Amino acid sequence: MNAEIIAVGSELLLGQIVNTNAQFLSKHLANIGVNVFYHTVAGDNSERLTKAIEIAESRADLIIFTGGLGPTKDDLTKETIASHLGKGLVYDEEALRSIESFFKKVKRKMTENNRKQAFILEDSTVLPNDHGMAPGMFLQVQGRSYMLLPGPPKEMEPMYLSYGEKAILELLHTNDKIVSRVLRFFGIGESLLETEIEDLIDAQANPTIAPLAADGEVTLRLTAKEKTEELANQLIEETEKKILSRVGQYFYGYNSTSLMNELFKLLRKRNLTIACAESLTGGLFQQEITSISGAGDVFKGGVVCYATEVKNRVLKVKKETIDHMGVVSAECASELAENVRELMQADIGISFTGVAGPTEQEGKPVGMVFIGVSMKEQPTLVEQLQLAGTREGIRNRSVKHGCYLLIN
Ligand code: ATP
Ligand code: MG
Repeated sequence: MNAEIIAVGSELLLGQIVNTNAQFLSKHLANIGVNVFYHTVAGDNSERLTKAIEIAESRADLIIFTGGLGPTKDDLTKETIASHLGKGLVYDEEALRSIESFFKKVKRKMTENNRKQAFILEDSTVLPNDHGMAPGMFLQVQGRSYMLLPGPPKEMEPMYLSYGEKAILELLHTNDKIVSRVLRFFGIGESLLETEIEDLIDAQANPTIAPLAADGEVTLRLTAKEKTEELANQLIEETEKKILSRVGQYFYGYNSTSLMNELFKLLRKRNLTIACAESLTGGLFQQEITSISGAGDVFKGGVVCYATEVKNRVLKVKKETIDHMGVVSAECASELAENVRELMQADIGISFTGVAGPTEQEGKPVGMVFIGVSMKEQPTLVEQLQLAGTREGIRNRSVKHGCYLLIN
């Protein structure tokens, strides 16, 4: 099978962005034995895109499009392919539901425009978008396959790895079973993880190993194909063992789990309760733990102690600590953790204090974070971090670090 990648977007032709989508897809297609013979770039113009499709059809079995699936006027990939193939656009309930739930998640108001994204090509299979709204599509027409992926790499890459690659593998090995498993890591960067297992990645064939970094975490997706599911699982297990023997200390769970979810399971298994004092995270930890159903079994309650005065009056952080060490300090984190545990009568108290930015505080740099962990009859533990990134990123990663500390 040979493939052509058509990246759609005038920004690409204007030199405003680099076509990293083609690079990503080529690399992963090579891994599964699909030859990419051509990369094409077309602007946001229906006529010229149609020409590009016609040329691609004369030389490729599989055509992968990226970009132009969004809600705005210049997004016309779907419409152009529909009219070229003589296919209608049909309303997809499932896609609409996922668009609605995406808007709920990001707490934005949905516009009429966004409904446009719930239209999919007639006879196509939806490739769900777990990181955005526009669904991807896959369809076969007269022995040729077409895959439509969104433009933003943050959406396109996970969509391809989770759903797109599988669809292509199924084309290649119609009788084989395809099994994939995601290994999730925290506390190690993507490049270091890749270096540690470089030889395995280089030698990969079956299973394939696809690394992906997102939201401060790194995942490895292992995909194996074999005559039976059992054999495919065996292959995955063998490779997983090799990987974990090298970087197992950073591994925390499988597939779509999260650090908070793993913490929740652990607390429930050990029959422990937790309470939380949050300064820079402003309730994020509590929001995340309470979004898990059954949280009441393990979560006692917490205090968002944003103001210094509240740290002192409600959570009894000593005046000397505040005056001499500051609120962004190991001492403050440790008192917060101990006192919130007492206050909520929990088995574990966890606290977050630090500088989320954008400006420094108490002369301490943006990204300096202290996490305190207090447990009955045990010395209180404080972890100091120096995180990089945006205010939002620092807050999110603080919560993840807190969970990671507790599950290790
Ligand atoms: P959206 O819903 O965000 O509009 P879309 O599927 O319509 O997504 P485009 O509008 O074409 O995609 O592109 C959105 C953004 O995605 C671009 O501004 C660019 O940052 C990124 N992008 C698009 N195509 C590529 C590409 N080939 N390589 C790298 N980044 C890309
Ligand atoms: Mg767009």
